[in-house]
Amino acid sequence: MEIRTTESATRVDDARLVEILANPGFGTHFTDHMLTVEWTPDADWHAARIEPYGPLSLDPATAVLHYAQETFEGMKAYRHQDGSIWLFRPEANAERMRRSSQRLAFPELPVEDFVGAVEALVRADQRWVPPGDGEKSLYLRPFMFASEVFLGVRPAQHVTFMVIASPAGAYFKGGVKPVTLWLTEEYTRAGRGGMGAAKTGGNYASSLVAQQEAIAQGCDQVVFLDAQEGNYVEELGGMNLYFVFRDGHIVTPETGTILEGITRASIIELAGKLGHQVEERKFSIGEWRDGIASGDIVEVFACGTAAVVTPVGTVLSKDGQIAAPESTDLTMRIRQALVDIQFGRADDTFGWMR
Ligand code: PMP
Repeated sequence: MEIRTTESATRVDDARLVEILANPGFGTHFTDHMLTVEWTPDADWHAARIEPYGPLSLDPATAVLHYAQETFEGMKAYRHQDGSIWLFRPEANAERMRRSSQRLAFPELPVEDFVGAVEALVRADQRWVPPGDGEKSLYLRPFMFASEVFLGVRPAQHVTFMVIASPAGAYFKGGVKPVTLWLTEEYTRAGRGGMGAAKTGGNYASSLVAQQEAIAQGCDQVVFLDAQEGNYVEELGGMNLYFVFRDGHIVTPETGTILEGITRASIIELAGKLGHQVEERKFSIGEWRDGIASGDIVEVFACGTAAVVTPVGTVLSKDGQIAAPESTDLTMRIRQALVDIQFGRADDTFGWMR
């Protein structure tokens, strides 16, 4: 796919950029450029271009505004000590977006085009990749939406793929601290045959009331159970879960209705290499409760691109509390191993960096 640069732009001067990168926060500052590719049934993917970042002008009848046909990805570019810039497993994000597209009846963007697009934007906006010390990065947001102007409900006949980028600060300021969870028994995230495994905006829209409830309960995040039986642990609003047992084996909820995290998949490989047996299976809320009570479960952690790995502390629910596990040793070891690979401080023995 050939990507044209229509015009290059500089939205902020170097002095202002230094200020922004010193304290980027999350999701509020955007880079100089954005990348756009169009799809129509006749022309396939075409008109790939990098333009100055700016607002879109959409017809009020644009399909996505009515029927929410949208998929997205979240990934980061990391600056290494020598100044070079790296992506972590971008093909995995490309593959996941392909699967999300299948579920949303979208055309599939080929993996090499997805990766090429992300790389092209990072190249154009490389001055926005913060220095890697302190775990800052450039957050990348590829997304796709139904851009046809039509109020009928159908698979879109015009789809737009874009990539935007936003510098991101360290998720934890002042050290990693366990997240507390609210177990929602009222709301679910995904049902059998639903969209739980797709990274689509609607899943996040549907999580917000539950997240609001979590905050009202004084918790950081919400944990969802399966929709059919209300018995099996699925995931958090934006992170996957892991349970570490005293004998060293590790369990993570099986795929199907959860978002298949790239961090989750990487930990399966990493923990295996560290000598831990990893099981992907159904994991009930009772097993969590009993495992903590008996001391069989020694660590619980959550993982995702944003926080990498974070210990899980106390879980609150209508029926009472599950105490924080006793340890965070393996959690912190896995976290360090991943962060060191991402920031180039350890050998990339898995070949994950690009
Ligand atoms: N679950 C959900 C619902 C998420 O939004 C995310 C973040 N993409 C994850 C899990 C973790 O996925 P990843 O490791 O690819 O960031």
